[in-house]
Order: sequence, then C-alpha cells, then structure tokens
Amino acid sequence: VLQLYTPLNFFGTYYRMIQQAFIDMENMLDLLDIQPDVQDSPFAKDLVINNGMIEFDSVCFHYQPERPILKNVSFSVLPGQTLAIVGPSGAGKTTIVRLLFRFYDVQSGSIKIDGTDINLVTQNSLRRSIGVVPQDTVLFNRDILYNVRYGRVTATDREVENAARTAEMHERIQTFPEGYKTVVGERGLKLSGGEKQRVAIARTLLKAPAIVLLDEATSALDTITERHIQSALRTVCEGRTTIIVAHRLSTISHADVIVVLRDGEVAERGSHEELLGLPDGLYASMWREQSTSYTNADKPTTLDN
Ligand code: ATP
Repeated sequence: VLQLYTPLNFFGTYYRMIQQAFIDMENMLDLLDIQPDVQDSPFAKDLVINNGMIEFDSVCFHYQPERPILKNVSFSVLPGQTLAIVGPSGAGKTTIVRLLFRFYDVQSGSIKIDGTDINLVTQNSLRRSIGVVPQDTVLFNRDILYNVRYGRVTATDREVENAARTAEMHERIQTFPEGYKTVVGERGLKLSGGEKQRVAIARTLLKAPAIVLLDEATSALDTITERHIQSALRTVCEGRTTIIVAHRLSTISHADVIVVLRDGEVAERGSHEELLGLPDGLYASMWREQSTSYTNADKPTTLDN
C-alpha cells in the first residue's frame, strides 16, 4: 500500500507545485505581452525573504535597444511599507512591476530583495514570494470556490471563505444562485471588474506573500465598489511590502512614498504632502487636474436642470 501511495503523493505535491506556478502566471497575464527569454542562472538559489525590502538601483531597461524605457531608476521600499508609482501613460510604471517579477532582465543596474539580486535566485521562488493583484483577473469556468482557492490550492473551504470575507466578497457570493458552488467566468456568471478584483485580493490573501504588487484598474469604479476594494486592499497590504501602480491619486495619498515617473525617469519622490508642497511639480499638477475632474463629475446636473 505504501509503495502505491508514495508515487501518488509525489504526483500530488508535484501537481500542486505546477498549479501554483500557473496561478503566478495567470495573475501576471495582463502584465505579460510576450514570454521573454529569462533563464535561471545555473547557481540560482531559492529566494529567502526575511523582511521584504525592495531596492531598485540605477535600473536601465529597454524592450528595443533604440528606445530606452527606464533610465537610471532608483528607489527603495522599506519592509512593510507602501510605495506608489504614478506618472503619465507610457512612463514605464507597469514595466517596473514586470521587472520585479523578472519577466525581463535589466540592461544595467540591479533589483534586490532583502539584499539579494533577483537575477541570482530561481524564478519560481521569486514569483512564489510576490502576490499580484492585476488590473483584470482571469477567471476559470469553474465555481467561485475553485476560483478563490486558486490562491493556495491546499486551502480548506473555511480558509477560502475567510479570505473572501476579508476581501469583502463573501456577502456578494452569498447572493449568487448557488453560493460558492456558482460557476463563474465566460460560460458562467459574469463578474464585474470590481468583483474580479476582489477575487484577486482573496487569492492573494490565501497566498500570503511577503510582497504585494497592485496594478490599479484604469477604469473608474462606482463609489461603493471603490470603497469596498480600498478597504480590502488595505487588508491585503497590511504588514507586507507593497508597490502600487496607481492611476487615481485619491487612492494612494496614504502611501509611505510616492514616486513620480516621467519618460522613464524618477521626476519626483516623497509623501503626498511633500509632493503637493512643490506647486510647480508634476504630482501637484496631476492632483489639481484630478480634483477638478472629480468635482465636475460629482455635480448633480440632473437636479439643476
Ligand atoms: P500606462 O499608465 O498607460 O499603463 P505605463 O506607465 O505603465 O503606462 P508601460 O506599460 O510600462 O507604461 O510602458 C512604457 C513604454 O514601454 C510604453 O511606451 C510602451 O509602449 C512600451 N512597451 C510596453 N511593453 C512593451 C513591450 N512588450 N514591447 C515593446 N514596448 C513595450
């Protein structure tokens, strides 16, 4: 009996490892346009995270040599802190996230986690340590239980439910026709962008990584959904080193550090207050612009007419 079980156990473990790798890939799908040619070094070791400090040191990167994208980008995120990256479209924000996940190698400079260059660790161990909440989460045509559990396939039903609760998704799931057994995805119940994002948050809670990367959705969500997501996001970031690629400045004013990227260069850095203190700065002008558009959008036009 033992002899029969051992290989089965082996395949079970292996199967779970492969599944975990798929989760990571799947989480990154929207960040990934091409499958690049990144290789583990023959001496690669598994990444060991103690505190979760992230350091970018003079990072230069291009997709095509004739077009540099990141130029000498340096910043660090202290353990447990939140760094937000903002800047105009095309500035290179998502590229920074891709590099940290090592979908590409930098041309010069270095990216370190807890002092170890990410080029020197196995890609598997790197991606296991990082949770991603992407702009658009891919769902499987399976039930919602399966879809949330995908964050850690060994999680119990109770753990899945707890994660959904914390991600403020549990009550919503209760209203589905068959609760947690409701099939979602293309051929099942369609979830809204905000709901999908909360599924991603629940998955990340189950995965419990030391580092979290959030790629904020570009599309505006309604105020109530936005509030639910913000509170769920705060929970998922708690005690974890977090990088947020932000499009709405209102959601990142609490960040420990905000880096303003312009044409692949760090143009400004500081807290929300510090950056607003630079009246001629890019952040201050982006803030003024977004505040005006919020005020206009909030005007009760129908009442006036
Ligand atoms: P947005 O706010 O619009 O999402 P971003 O600041 O995140 O923009 P990136 O997605 O990092 O910008 O892109 C930076 C630049 O790199 C852009 O000009 C983009 O066209 C280019 N780029 C992005 N991905 C690739 C790729 N796979 N191959 C070639 N060029 C790319």
